[in-house]
Amino acid sequence: MVKTRFAPSPTGFLHIGGARTCLFSWLYARSRKGSFVLRIEDTDRVRSKKEYLEEILESLKWLGLDWDEIYYQSRRFKLYREHAQKLIDAGKAYEKEGAVFFKYEFDEVEIDDLIKRKMVFRELPKDEEVIIKSDGSPTYNFSCVIDDALMQITHVIRGDDHISNTPKQILMYKALGFDLPFFAHVPLILAEQGGRLSKRFGATSIRQYKELGYLPQAVVNYLLLLGWSPGGDQEIISLSQAKDKFDLRDINKAAASFTFDKFNWLNAHYIKESALEDLYWPVVDVFARQGLDLISFDKEYVLKVMGLFRERTTVLSELPEKTRCFFNDDFTYASDTDKVLEKKSMQELKKLTDSLTNLNNFDKETIEKEFRAVCDSLGLKARDLVHPARVALSGQTKGPGLFEAME
Ligand code: GLU
Repeated sequence: MVKTRFAPSPTGFLHIGGARTCLFSWLYARSRKGSFVLRIEDTDRVRSKKEYLEEILESLKWLGLDWDEIYYQSRRFKLYREHAQKLIDAGKAYEKEGAVFFKYEFDEVEIDDLIKRKMVFRELPKDEEVIIKSDGSPTYNFSCVIDDALMQITHVIRGDDHISNTPKQILMYKALGFDLPFFAHVPLILAEQGGRLSKRFGATSIRQYKELGYLPQAVVNYLLLLGWSPGGDQEIISLSQAKDKFDLRDINKAAASFTFDKFNWLNAHYIKESALEDLYWPVVDVFARQGLDLISFDKEYVLKVMGLFRERTTVLSELPEKTRCFFNDDFTYASDTDKVLEKKSMQELKKLTDSLTNLNNFDKETIEKEFRAVCDSLGLKARDLVHPARVALSGQTKGPGLFEAME
């Protein structure tokens, strides 16, 4: 049975690169009816934070990635120590000043990586390495090997920034008498302008994208397309569809670049496709983050407003500004509205306001009829008054259909 794992260190928020590695690892297990392990590599007691751990779990759930087993390395120190002792007893490791050192018995190491293909390592930078520190905590390569072996991980899928660790780990597997798993090193994601996805690039964590109003389906779809293709020119793909098609063989060997054009296009697509009801809480959250409380409004009303904007939204965080007039009388006029709202239209708008105020039915059909009648009486074409009316009402030159918006 295929068994894969994702092994984040809770020393930061879930990065988009980490999320994509997790996605590939999860998909491989799920596509083979295998099992998926989440292993929290919290051996660094100082840098590991509960806040990061909670955020990682929350982000994974938000993306729709579930796990069958979860382990915390901080609870397994005894186990690592026992295996270190076995190596000491076999003369393959020794203890000095409270730390345990592993002696590499170096031999040429060949890796048949499932993505990168054959790689040969002829030397290592060091001939020994600390595996248990003097505070009793294990170092990454050692705890990783012990856990991957004891958890019976069949495929170690991780970022290719770990390639240089793999020959060291293989020598540890051999020293401990464990069977080797398959390795698959996933290429990095690069920024559009080249270089790594660093803080300078902008948002790098899943949480930030959630807060900006990206939907999880769009994030998953985009991460999938970064480095993997479902075949043909299919671009819209869901997690469950990907499960039927995914194979490690189809992952690109070269790094992929993160481009906002495609990502935004996908997000707009999923917003358009969403049921209004499903957008409610994400929308409430983005408004709250911009200091606006939507909960105090009637939910039906909120959903109706969302309905007006669903087809014209790229990220949900645009909505508080775009829809401000629906929730607050105190809004500012966009800088491009001066030309539309000239002095001469004030009289006409006043006339329109008076007529509309007297309507008994304020539905879009009745509004439109009245609007056209007012235009006729003023000797205007409807479009001469549509633009000034929109600006007067919303402070924006663009927006949804005027009569629906008025309703
Ligand atoms: N904790 C390591 C990391 O976050 C895990 C690497 C691995 O998957 O082996 O990079």
